[in-house]
Amino acid sequence: MSPDNLETQDRWKMGEGRFSASTRLPAADQETTTRSREADRRLYHVVVATIASFCLVVVSGQLKTMAGEIVAVWIADGYLLGHLMAVPRRSKPSILIGGVIGNLVANLMGGESLYVSLSFTAGGMVEVCTAALLLPWVSSSKELINPRTFLRFVLVAGALAPLVSGLAAVLLLQGVFTTHPFSSFSNWVISASLGFVIFTPVTLNIVSGEWRSLLEPGNRMKSLALLALVGCVTTLIFVQTSQSVLYWALPPLALLAFHAELSTVLLGILLFISIAVPLTVRGMGPLWLTTFSNMQERILALQVFTVAALSIALPITVLQVQRNRLVSLVIDGHRRFRQLAEHSDEVIIQLASNGEFQYVSPRVRHTLGYEPHDLVGCKIERMVHQDDWHRLKQAMTAASTEHMEASVEYRLRRRDQSFIWVRSFIAAMPAEPTDGHAAMAFTVRDINTRVLSEQRRNAEEEKLKQLAYVDSLTGLGNRRFFDAEFNSYFAPGTAAVPETAVLFIDVDFFKKYNDRYGHSAGDECLKTVGKCIKAAIRDGDLLARYGGEEFVVALSGCSYAEAVEAAERIRANIEGLAVAHEGSPLGALTLSIGVAHMSEADAINPGELLELADSALYEAKRLGRNRVFHRRTPSAPARRTPSAHV
Ligand code: GH3
Ligand code: MG
Ligand code: MG
Repeated sequence: MSPDNLETQDRWKMGEGRFSASTRLPAADQETTTRSREADRRLYHVVVATIASFCLVVVSGQLKTMAGEIVAVWIADGYLLGHLMAVPRRSKPSILIGGVIGNLVANLMGGESLYVSLSFTAGGMVEVCTAALLLPWVSSSKELINPRTFLRFVLVAGALAPLVSGLAAVLLLQGVFTTHPFSSFSNWVISASLGFVIFTPVTLNIVSGEWRSLLEPGNRMKSLALLALVGCVTTLIFVQTSQSVLYWALPPLALLAFHAELSTVLLGILLFISIAVPLTVRGMGPLWLTTFSNMQERILALQVFTVAALSIALPITVLQVQRNRLVSLVIDGHRRFRQLAEHSDEVIIQLASNGEFQYVSPRVRHTLGYEPHDLVGCKIERMVHQDDWHRLKQAMTAASTEHMEASVEYRLRRRDQSFIWVRSFIAAMPAEPTDGHAAMAFTVRDINTRVLSEQRRNAEEEKLKQLAYVDSLTGLGNRRFFDAEFNSYFAPGTAAVPETAVLFIDVDFFKKYNDRYGHSAGDECLKTVGKCIKAAIRDGDLLARYGGEEFVVALSGCSYAEAVEAAERIRANIEGLAVAHEGSPLGALTLSIGVAHMSEADAINPGELLELADSALYEAKRLGRNRVFHRRTPSAPARRTPSAHV
């Protein structure tokens, strides 16, 4: 376990035991523990970097010796840069210290003088520090694979840092290099560049733990097969010296770049180098078919070829990784949408601007009984109840032109041709890039049960209202109905009240009628009176059975004379029926009617008008019954119209 992990564990433990541990451990002890862990962590990084740098300098040195003092690829600095990038900021100095020690010791042990060892080490450190300072802040190869980041990495680590360090090395080691300064310089630059471009991402991959993805079952077989192909083709190219077929190394590398992750691609390049360099050094391979003056030139040619291969493979990998990310984003988004659409209890619909179904979610089977593909291409208008189409169209227009979310309730036709009530939320979708037409997104919720029960409830309420307002005996409105209607004439905010008359009508000696003929005959008599009054007034006039054997009529827009005339007509009609009433001193069924009238200008409230009519009725009774007594509102003097019966 690395100290970074140890550190995390310790932090977690300290956090977990915050209350108990802090009371037990004094603050000074805690500080000492933290400091000692920090020292451990630094030492760990120094040791790892020292060992790794030492080993890689030795390996690079071995390669150099094999290649006749030419370095094909300088591994050590690529590793050091990768490790430096992968660790947190506070651990970076430890890595650098380890790198310096490892480099120095390996050079000294390799037989170099102290000056040469120091110069090599200094050159390496200039290279690593220049790259580290100018590189973007990434700590994994996944982050590095972003196209912009990778371009900067290639420019800085693949060109700038090797150039700077190459200059420093050539200046420091003037006279030490056995070859021409330019040749030494270009060899340094290319080997350092290859080292960075190949080993820095590989190290990042290893230190950050991303390498584990290579072991995933799907990746493993594919990566191994592609690497094997690279290995085989490279070997075939380099074990012979008769054919100039170096370029055949490119197709397997390009194939690898298409299908593998960055680290596998770099591993492939490494495989190519580790087969090509030793075989070339041993006098085999296509590079021996061309005339080179020395081995250094031959290795330089191989390096240039490797740089070319990298510049083909890496952009492919970077773009491929980006494409794969986009594809998986699209697939993921599509999968999530389908999941939502298929498990929603609403039907999700995409409608073209001409009203054609473009997408219908499977929920439609349950809601409307159609298969989704039955509807694709059909027009929604055909499925909407004709009474509701206008309303839906308005909502669709609002959604598409004003870009407002619209909600509408309407009826849709099911497969069995019955209609159900649904509610839709409609929103405009962005225009299709291909044809520029905006589509609409619909949700369709089945609200049939709710609407039908609402309609049933409304009907029942209406029925109850009817019952509450209707007199069951005569079928006329009752007193509640009359009061509600009459008061609404006078409600504030209504138009100016026209002249109005109220007629209070009471059957004379009705108790005696009941006593003489029985209650049922009395009921029949009340029905007859009701019908008779109704026949004597206009359709729009308000008539009600006010209670017992009393009726009330309100005549709106009626003059005083017309009201008296109407009352007289009612009274005369009943008298004309000549219904026998032996209990009455008058011998027949008669009515007494009190009339109250208010003209437009009178300020009187409905209660006062009714009271006035009631007192007029009282007068009619007092004066001997079977008569009409009428009053105007108090502003006008009361008077009695002589009647034939007065
Ligand atoms: P008046 O001439 O002063 O109006 O005398 P009246 O007998 O008509 O008035 P009173 O108020 O003394 O009696 C009213 C009667 O009406 C008493 C009641 O039995 C009868 N009545 C009230 N409602 C009904 C009904 O629905 N059916 C029947 N059959 N009689 C009713
Ligand atoms: Mg009465
Ligand atoms: Mg009466």
